[in-house]
Amino acid sequence: MIVGIDLGTTNSLVGIWRDGAVTLVPNALGHLLSPSAVGLGDDGAILVGLAARERLISHPALTAAAFKRYMGSDRLLFLGEKGFRPEELSALVLRSLKADAEAMLGEAVDEAVITVPAYFNDAQRKATKAAGELAGLRVARLLTEPTAAALAYGLDALEEESTILVVDLGGGTFDVSVLNCFEGVMEVRACAGDSWLGGEDFVDVIVAAFMAGPGAEAGLPPPSEGSVLRAALRRQAELMKRALSDAESATLDLAHDGKTLHWSLTRDGFEKLAEPLLARLRAPIERALRDARVDPDALSQIVLAGGASRMPMFRRLIARLFQRLPVQSINPDEVVARGAAVRAGLAMRDQSLEEVVLTDVAPFTLGVGVAERDADGRRIDGLFMPVIERNTVIPASRIETVSTLEDNQSQISIKVYQGESRLVRDNILLGEFVVTVPRRRAGEESVDIRFTYDTSGLLEVEATVRSNGVRGNLIIEGNPGVLTPEQIKQRLTELAKLKVHPRDQAENAAVVARAKRLYEERLGATRHRIGDWLSDFMAVLNRQDETEIAAARQRLVANLDAVDDNFFL
Ligand code: AMP
Repeated sequence: MIVGIDLGTTNSLVGIWRDGAVTLVPNALGHLLSPSAVGLGDDGAILVGLAARERLISHPALTAAAFKRYMGSDRLLFLGEKGFRPEELSALVLRSLKADAEAMLGEAVDEAVITVPAYFNDAQRKATKAAGELAGLRVARLLTEPTAAALAYGLDALEEESTILVVDLGGGTFDVSVLNCFEGVMEVRACAGDSWLGGEDFVDVIVAAFMAGPGAEAGLPPPSEGSVLRAALRRQAELMKRALSDAESATLDLAHDGKTLHWSLTRDGFEKLAEPLLARLRAPIERALRDARVDPDALSQIVLAGGASRMPMFRRLIARLFQRLPVQSINPDEVVARGAAVRAGLAMRDQSLEEVVLTDVAPFTLGVGVAERDADGRRIDGLFMPVIERNTVIPASRIETVSTLEDNQSQISIKVYQGESRLVRDNILLGEFVVTVPRRRAGEESVDIRFTYDTSGLLEVEATVRSNGVRGNLIIEGNPGVLTPEQIKQRLTELAKLKVHPRDQAENAAVVARAKRLYEERLGATRHRIGDWLSDFMAVLNRQDETEIAAARQRLVANLDAVDDNFFL
């Protein structure tokens, strides 16, 4: 059996082709979406999926997520003391999807079609294949995500040559692709995107508006990175955002300091807050069309993918730009996985579908570390300034300018990073050099930094002091991110040694993690009650009686649902 897998940044799904149709496979919790998160549990066993995602805030040092962003690099992500490569963490996710499919089918699954973003380059594709192998899956084929979305809609079968636009607004990224389909050949003609823009940013605007309004009135402290307040507020804002996709208004309830703050927002209000984000969505769409030399009127279809494409304002923007409605009959969370399952079905029936892939793009964002002053003049260090963004067609050359930040500053240090995070400490340092600038007042001296990146992965960074033309440069050679077959073999033995939390206990692990998260988020009597429920449940778990555990779990879930309404995946 060949399965189709959407290995996503936030969530992953697996589907199969059976009796002429796609069936998506539920995980051990009965959900179709499995969070792409991996963590180390309290007993030292590896947790995958929802249980791991629930522990992201309470145990950040033991949990990893969004590792897809680092595929193809040699960056290590740590679960406690132990470092894992992104393909190893992906392999753990794939392994759990494989087990879900095997549990449903009652037979072994050893082959898969796995989807990758259209802009994934050679190193990133190789890493995805390696992840499959590490999970015990032969990778029958890698399929690009926009092609998968088009396949899910059966657009490969169109009679005439057609051009399709796929717009995918996920949790953290926005990808636009132009496809050409003709006689069973699907070609990605162009792709563009914004690796810094997704559903999460729409949550941020709700959080900011709440903090500026009722939060400030109630004297809430700033919700700092990693704080429980921030996590709780973001969850509530996420719920509000989702509710506003279906309703004209929604309320946000936040428990803080023994009180609950209530705030309501209308859909109109949300759309006003999100206007700057919507404006940013336009540029990549226009760029993809321009790069593919396609006129908007010449598009046969517009396909939406990604959970955040459910927002009515997004759909309206697309409808307005193209003067027509996009196709949206398939759930946008599922569309890529469904396409992967269709492709798996074709492979099993030995029918071919040719895909022309595009690989000459920059795999990661490349940029420099900078410092800034905030509105109050405080200096913030360690920020990342992108110069060549991921997804840029290469070879490419771009210039950004930085200025001195202190009076009499005599040097500007240029630190070159690769990665997608706003903070340089979460990106990979590729190299650094220093240029000397004349001592003047802050902001009066500046340096042009030119990045030139070519198809062989060679990056040249050149800095020129504007006032006197003095230059410095650095050449960085790339591709550290590809594992050799010997390394894969060795990693396989390492992975085999890991103790993985048993699948039949996944539900218990997920509900315990959720209870612990709620315990941290809530205060007072509610917190006390959650603590009691948790102790009771742990005692039942210890007795190891399956029937008793199932009944107790059901009670605990019902209790948690009562304090955490609208729990979402
Ligand atoms: P994906 O990466 O495709 O799984 O998309 C995840 C993103 O979709 C997250 O930012 C979610 O908040 C967002 N999302 C899911 N459901 C909805 C909804 N009903 N309305 C708005 N955004 C949603």
